[in-house]
Amino acid sequence: MIDELNDILRLLDRIVGQYPMYFYLVDADNKIRWFNRFMADRLPEIAVGQEAGCGQMQWVCAPDCSDCPVQVFQTPAHEVQKTLVKTLVGEGGEEVFLEFFNFPVYASDGVTSEGVLRVGIDVTENEKLRETLRERQKLYATIINISEDAIIFLDPEDRIQGWNKGAEKLFGYSEEEILGRDVAILVPNELREMGERGNIKKELEKDGALQNFETQRIHRDGHRIHVDISITRVMDENRNYLGSSEIIKDISPRKALEMELLRTIRELSKLNELNDILHGTHHLDEILKYILIGITAGEGLRFNRAFLVLVDQETACLQGSLAIGPSNPNEASQIWDVLNAQNKHLRDIVKSYAIDLEGVDRGVNEIVRKIYVPLHRTDHVLIEALNNRRLLKVENRAFPGSESRQTDVGDQTLFEVLGNDNFVLVPLYSKTEPLGIIIADNVITHREITREDLESLKLFATQASTAIENARLYHDLEMRIVDLQSAYRQLAQNQEKLLQAERLAGIGEMSAKVAHEIRNPLVSIGGFARIIERKVPDDPQIKKFARIIREQVEGLESILNNILNAANPPKPQLQTVNINSVVKRVSNLLADAIERRQATFSHESESEAIWVWGDERLLFQAIFNLVKNALEALEALEEREKNGLITVITRMDGDRVRIDITDNGPGIAQPILKKIFNKFFTTKSSGTGLGLSIVHQIVDAHEGTIGVESPEEGGTRFCLHFPSAPQPDSNPDTVV
Ligand code: ADP
Ligand code: MG
Repeated sequence: MIDELNDILRLLDRIVGQYPMYFYLVDADNKIRWFNRFMADRLPEIAVGQEAGCGQMQWVCAPDCSDCPVQVFQTPAHEVQKTLVKTLVGEGGEEVFLEFFNFPVYASDGVTSEGVLRVGIDVTENEKLRETLRERQKLYATIINISEDAIIFLDPEDRIQGWNKGAEKLFGYSEEEILGRDVAILVPNELREMGERGNIKKELEKDGALQNFETQRIHRDGHRIHVDISITRVMDENRNYLGSSEIIKDISPRKALEMELLRTIRELSKLNELNDILHGTHHLDEILKYILIGITAGEGLRFNRAFLVLVDQETACLQGSLAIGPSNPNEASQIWDVLNAQNKHLRDIVKSYAIDLEGVDRGVNEIVRKIYVPLHRTDHVLIEALNNRRLLKVENRAFPGSESRQTDVGDQTLFEVLGNDNFVLVPLYSKTEPLGIIIADNVITHREITREDLESLKLFATQASTAIENARLYHDLEMRIVDLQSAYRQLAQNQEKLLQAERLAGIGEMSAKVAHEIRNPLVSIGGFARIIERKVPDDPQIKKFARIIREQVEGLESILNNILNAANPPKPQLQTVNINSVVKRVSNLLADAIERRQATFSHESESEAIWVWGDERLLFQAIFNLVKNALEALEALEEREKNGLITVITRMDGDRVRIDITDNGPGIAQPILKKIFNKFFTTKSSGTGLGLSIVHQIVDAHEGTIGVESPEEGGTRFCLHFPSAPQPDSNPDTVV
């Protein structure tokens, strides 16, 4: 059989000899009987008759190799065997992969082995490709494994089928533990309930991938991990869905930073708002209240209670002054319900605090008032916190640094008074001096006082201190402004006085001259008129004229006196004067004028004579000026209401003499009332504005007083008081 085959092959070789295939025939003695031309070209050392066993045909196999033709031969089988062989061919010794098919050759009995026909096909290219693929796979596996990120692969049922070292590190599960398990094991309960997995699937179906999806996962030990997941759908070449791959990055550190940043921003903006509120007022009381609200409100620093203990420089001690917070959990819910549940902004809380809380914090205010420590007690915890300008956190009655300090407040300790062993002491101070201490605690909720709380409190205390200092400065400034204003007013008045003095000096000079020139002739005229009045008793006509002349002269004299007095303030020559006779003289003098104005003059007195210690000439002038003003006021009355009335009442008022001069004229308007005693102030076209100022001078010179009232419905009353004089026994009325 083999011989025939040999012949056939020879024949065949002539036709397809160059076909790139290795053909050779091995006989039962393991000798090469034949090989094709292609093989001869590639392997020039091969010869017919050569042993085809291992070792000689280096490209065939290793000595104990099952691929070796010897073995194939020795274990004949009726099937074709396929083997892969790696060997070197050609002159350059090129490495090739050959896939051999061994066709056993049997004798015509079909049982006896006669040899093997081997056909080798060059599959080098395939093999190389496969090898690179294998290497690549290995590389990928390594890459996947050394990746810090977790890389996992899920089958279509979301069971974990791939789990790298990164995943092991991130989640704490080993590959053996987790493979085959549902990925839901990594998802927090609430996210599972919210159907996170379903949503992811939908996204994947829509876009094929999901990038940087931030969520949370659960570690084997139960703690949460913030992760960033990128998921890709994996399909085979026929677009069958194989599953999904997930790259999971641990972003917990970044998240923690973000949270910290957010918290800081929130805290800062809160402090900023508090700061705005604090600086929105300059009233110390309000600032102190806002400080406490800021520390306790939900929108603020969220402490349960805050106590303010302030330095009192006068008594040289620290004295509790104000507190906010509940006295017990019941009250706590009241306060916080009001402040927080209303969802109020801090600004509104501050505004509505007093209204909403009406004394709910009475308990804490009773507590704070018990706190009292003299400043010299430097071994006391409160004084120390104050002097060292350091925030002090007291935990379970222990102080940082473990030094022992005094805590007594009256006959109790600070802990007993506060009913709490854990609190913070925050000093408030200005640039120059300590202002006080804030005590803050969480007695109701027992919430731990955290580092963040302390930091916020410290910042806030600085702001609070500035606000307090500003308020004080502002207060000082206000006081100074008041001083300045009063100094300015004084100056303005002085200037006014100076101007008046100047004007008066001019007038004084003038009037002294004029008065001097006029007075002498006036005295002569008056004297002659009196003589005529006496000497011509029978002629009523002449007598009347003489009287008119005398009266006019006396009126002129009084005006002259006003001018002279304005220039030179009066120096009274005091003696006992019956004021009633002075009034009588005035009424006599003005009788005609009163009659002309159809007015009534009435003088009421509790007794015939009322004795004043004064200068008669000046008293006369004062009363004359007042009655004359009253008379002139009556002139302003409308024609139809002309029943003008001037009333003078003289009486004793204690040990002083009181004179009321009242008229029912139009009265004096309020803005004018302030000015009527000013020199030169007049509302009359022909007035001098001197009358009342002279009256005032005269009253002052007598150490008397003058007041004026003018009710809205009209009328004016001047009320004067003068020192009284004892009744002269022997010589009554001599002074008139
Ligand atoms: P004069 O009478 O020259 O105006 P006075 O000093 O006597 O100056 O009075 C100042 C002003 O006070 C008057 O112009 C007048 O406006 C007001 N006054 C004084 N007395 C009365 C009065 N009895 N009723 C109303 N106004 C009065
Ligand atoms: Mg007058």
